[in-house]
Amino acid sequence: QCAIDPNSIVSDACTSYSDLERLNAELGPSLDDLTQHTDFFAYYRLNLYNKACPFWTDENSMCGNRACAVETIEDESAVPPIWRAEELSKLEGARAKHPGRAQRRERPRDRPLQYQLGENVDESCVLEDDDECDERDYCIPDDEDAAGKGDYVSLVNNTERYTGYSGMGARQVWDTIYKENCFSAASPQTASLRSRSSQAAQNLKNVFQEYGRQHVDDGEDLYPLDDECLEQRAFYRIVSGMHASISTHLCWEFFNQTTGEWFHNVDCYKERLHTHPERISNIYFNYALLTRAMAKARKHLGSYTFCSSDPEQDFETKQKVLALAGKAAAGPHTFDETVMFQDPAVIDLKEDFRTRFRNVSKLMDCVGCDKCRLWGKVQTAGYGAALKILFEFDESKNGENPHLRRTELVALVNTLARVSHSLDAIQKFRLAVNTGDYGV
Ligand code: FAD
Repeated sequence: QCAIDPNSIVSDACTSYSDLERLNAELGPSLDDLTQHTDFFAYYRLNLYNKACPFWTDENSMCGNRACAVETIEDESAVPPIWRAEELSKLEGARAKHPGRAQRRERPRDRPLQYQLGENVDESCVLEDDDECDERDYCIPDDEDAAGKGDYVSLVNNTERYTGYSGMGARQVWDTIYKENCFSAASPQTASLRSRSSQAAQNLKNVFQEYGRQHVDDGEDLYPLDDECLEQRAFYRIVSGMHASISTHLCWEFFNQTTGEWFHNVDCYKERLHTHPERISNIYFNYALLTRAMAKARKHLGSYTFCSSDPEQDFETKQKVLALAGKAAAGPHTFDETVMFQDPAVIDLKEDFRTRFRNVSKLMDCVGCDKCRLWGKVQTAGYGAALKILFEFDESKNGENPHLRRTELVALVNTLARVSHSLDAIQKFRLAVNTGDYGV
């Protein structure tokens, strides 16, 4: 039996499960090519080890398994020169001065820093704005912040899969993430929004009730079942979908400690996903949201500079990204962001939403497994970039939108690639469950 009817509409999205699967069959190979075969999307620079968890300290929750370790790039010569810390600092010193906070505040929001770097240098390559958050960001930047901090990792060499990270440490992070979803019940905005709870909310609620998961309890999804507006529901679905996608990957590449072999663990899938169709539905919801963001960024990407100091490769990378965005735009309309944050009562809710999402991104520093923290950071940054495109970008413009940092774009494409892979894995797992053939 199929846990989800492929022809039914994914609630809160504009399309059906089968349409998204068809779109995924189109986009999957392009995503694979971009993330596995281009330098631009393979290297990610982030602060993986040096940021303390801002919420608690618990040395005991660190994962010591080998599978939790991340292989960082010690030798910078493996990294395209333009992204090396050494190059970045050269540019800041000899050719340009890194703008101070005050200067950056004065700078018109959408005006690039290029004038400070010199005519021929594109800031999207060499100088990333530092840790300071633009107020339109949904994620705390953690990246190529010019000061030589952080680590380069190859996302290709550090696949997201089973690591063995579990127990109280992992549980505490997930619980705290879901608590971010408890938007203030007392605020007048929330009250007014609750009263316009849509049919879609009711449908989703029915799904939950059908499966008997109605309360916050140990072993139950931490879903607040009171009436919620679309915006709050979307917040929950993004984090739950991210969680479910991580679960899919750890089941897909599971490690058998007895035989020392990696295998596709169908029982893991059954337990964590198949028997929780709402979690699977949240993965599809995220796919709809991310593909819409990709489609919406199409024009903006037309004037984006992909510099790796190899013009031929840059040209190819750009053509591939534009082809991906083009396919996403030509596919079904997957998600309608224009219905969100429209109610005048919702202005504050948008700010609240953004702050909460930033908190989720900060929580990634509390993840006690390096590999899980790496992918947690990539994916929260990816969803943060998607939300920024959906809610802060004007589709008809290209030069005037907020700046999309290199790491944001890399995170967006890699996150979409992860969710794309989840859809693929779920279809194969589902078939295995339906046919009883576990040789997936
Ligand atoms: P958990 O997955 O820890 O879930 C805890 C509780 O949350 C469940 O009991 C359930 O009530 C609820 N829940 C579960 N799924 C959902 C959902 N989709 N939506 C809503 N509620 C849900 N492990 C790896 O092996 N590889 C990784 O790459 C990896 N990455 C991680 C990244 C992050 C950011 C975190 C916090 C953890 C990561 N982990 C990873 C650990 C993994 O997610 C689980 O925590 C671990 O496998 C233990 O699983 P569990 O069965 O105890 O339930």
